[in-house]
Amino acid sequence: MVHPAEPEFQQALNELSTTLAPFLAQAPEYKKALEIVQIPERVIQFRVLWEDDQGRPQVNNGYRVQYNSALGPYKGGLRLHPSVNLSILKFLGFEQTFKNALTGINMGGGKGGSDFDPKGKSDNEIRRFCNSFMAELSRHIGKDTDVPAGDIGTGAREIGFFFGAYKKARNEFAGILTGKGASWGGSFIRPEATGYGLVYFVEHMIAHVRSTKTFNSASTLVSISGSGNVAQYAALKAIELGATVISLSDSKGALVRKHTNGEYEGKGLTKEIVLEVQELKAKGGLLSSVRVEGYEFVPGKRPWALLPRVDIALPCATQNEVSGEEAEALINAGVKFVAEGSNMGCTQEAIDVFETSRIQGGPDAVWYAPGKAANCGGVAVSGLEMAQNSQRLTWTPQDVDSKLAGIMSNCYQNCLSTAQRWIKEEEGVLPSLVAGANISGFIKVADAM
Ligand code: GLU
Repeated sequence: MVHPAEPEFQQALNELSTTLAPFLAQAPEYKKALEIVQIPERVIQFRVLWEDDQGRPQVNNGYRVQYNSALGPYKGGLRLHPSVNLSILKFLGFEQTFKNALTGINMGGGKGGSDFDPKGKSDNEIRRFCNSFMAELSRHIGKDTDVPAGDIGTGAREIGFFFGAYKKARNEFAGILTGKGASWGGSFIRPEATGYGLVYFVEHMIAHVRSTKTFNSASTLVSISGSGNVAQYAALKAIELGATVISLSDSKGALVRKHTNGEYEGKGLTKEIVLEVQELKAKGGLLSSVRVEGYEFVPGKRPWALLPRVDIALPCATQNEVSGEEAEALINAGVKFVAEGSNMGCTQEAIDVFETSRIQGGPDAVWYAPGKAANCGGVAVSGLEMAQNSQRLTWTPQDVDSKLAGIMSNCYQNCLSTAQRWIKEEEGVLPSLVAGANISGFIKVADAM
């Protein structure tokens, strides 16, 4: 099926279909499942009418795409961003379905959100928007039906407003959202989970390659894009382990480490600076206002083509944030590992550049991991939050973190062994993690369907 009006969804579907082709050639009985799985079980679209601080009516589109419930309740975040439309939410819900399967926890896939822009809105405006959004969404979700969570634009504050609105509407205190505050049903490590999980996943990739680069060495250069929840905790974990973080970014530009003649100056980002960014971003501030010695803010740019040397690249901002040219620039800078903290962070052109490098093999080969595998730690800990809510228990941070590490390890091993099982590669060529993730996630969902 073709979807000319839904370019992002078409892109995600093409990527899945192309990487499934060698598997489907060997297992044709799965072909029908591919046709079935691409259509969401249900799409809910609604009007969100709210009042601004001047008492004027404002209106936005609200959506929930209930993509696939073969493995469990629909599960996936709510994105609040002006770019939100049905194509974006369909691609995200589709990806989420396979990502959730890769966590090994029984969760279906869904996604929702609104074209409402929380930037520049007052707390009261955001609360009124959230109340109105949940007045409608509350009819369609439930702890065993559909459990939304955060995503771009939906953080702890919004989850709190949504949860309060649901509780009022239904007179029910239930685990209908994840990413809740730790004192009212949230899980420890949920805020950290996506970023930490991403780093845990890359640690397995590094160990497999037996690379001299490790997160425990200050000589390992990690380029991160974004400065929201995923980027913050990926940076904090990389710094905690001992690596050097050389970039962050936001929608206005990139903060990158200064260099002359290809040599970096000064030190890597410190934990204190990342915490300062975290505080600033919670207040809606801009990265350009953070002054860091040895770093410069480059307006209007993403970090990828600004850095002379990079070992590990972690796109953690949004979809299609690495172009084909930027992928080439990263290769020229010596990148060895690319793993997405964002969903579909790489364009198809960028994936092609990385996959070509992998297939060429040799010591310069780049290994790429797609978001649906590398960033599944977030939704995995959401699954653990649901389990804790069902038990009405709170597990310790250590307990959740070690479960997260186990889930990332299983997810990685699964992607690796599935690629090795279905895709023939030349001797010494690394397995395709994009094919492994897609085939593994697809088989699990298809079998359940
Ligand atoms: N929005 C996150 C994702 O893309 C988390 C979803 C969740 O926790 O349900 O996976």
